[in-house]
Amino acid sequence: MYHNRNQSDSNQKSGRMMAAENDDTISQKIGFLGTGSAFASTHTTGYFFRHNDLFLIDLSMKNMEAAKELSRNCHNIYVLLTHMHSDHSSGIAEFCEWNYYIQGKVCKIIAAGVLSSGIRQYMKIVGVPSLLYELIPMVCIDGGMYFPEDPYLAEIVYRIVPTIHTPELEGYCFGFVLNVDGTRVVYTGDTATLKSFLPWVTPGCQFYTEMSFHHGVVHLLWEEQKKVLYALADDMDIYLIHMDDEEALRNAVQGTNISIAQITYQKGRIDYET
Ligand SMILES: [Zn+2]
Ligand SMILES: [Zn+2]
Repeated sequence: MYHNRNQSDSNQKSGRMMAAENDDTISQKIGFLGTGSAFASTHTTGYFFRHNDLFLIDLSMKNMEAAKELSRNCHNIYVLLTHMHSDHSSGIAEFCEWNYYIQGKVCKIIAAGVLSSGIRQYMKIVGVPSLLYELIPMVCIDGGMYFPEDPYLAEIVYRIVPTIHTPELEGYCFGFVLNVDGTRVVYTGDTATLKSFLPWVTPGCQFYTEMSFHHGVVHLLWEEQKKVLYALADDMDIYLIHMDDEEALRNAVQGTNISIAQITYQKGRIDYET
């Protein structure tokens, strides 16, 4: 949970979480550097902390400066990747380089195993040597799902769930089921269907789902999904992310129990504790 800036909190990273858009307490377990879709003015990059470890969910170049600030002095820096569209992955190369050369840190990339060889190839052709990053080994189970081999990470990244997005990326798009501070978080990534995630959205969880107001097909269209979401929202917190038109969606959810995910980072408002 995010606290307002006046609340004392001995946790160093909670101090950073104080950089909320306003001073109200925010119940989001996932913070955001941006919440827009590919052609919006911001791109969706999520984050949370576990002790002194930073977990980013995707990283667009548009969010690079904020991501660097968040990662300063973190013990481990993880980047969870949903898929390789540029609004989700364009920042990883520079981020790994910056962390290695400036902070002396090797970023750890968490992605479904089927993406591993592509990520290695991508890093190679953009000039990022393999010693600058670490791809976390995955266990693959039935249904094309993955989870990290490492027990510490497997407790946080409970499942990497395959979903359908664009035809070109068939088999290469995923969402996450996470454990953040003891709360189940279901995070869709980009998806054309809610069905992949319905088995995982259990009462009490936080459900972060991408949503489009104008165009569906490879994304979820509000008009087509709202009834399902209204029903789910009786039992869980639902936050819309990866929005093509935040204002239209903000108006659409007004008076409902569905929320627009708040951007929790603003330049110059990250609070550091020494
Ligand atoms: Zn996207
Ligand atoms: Zn995409």
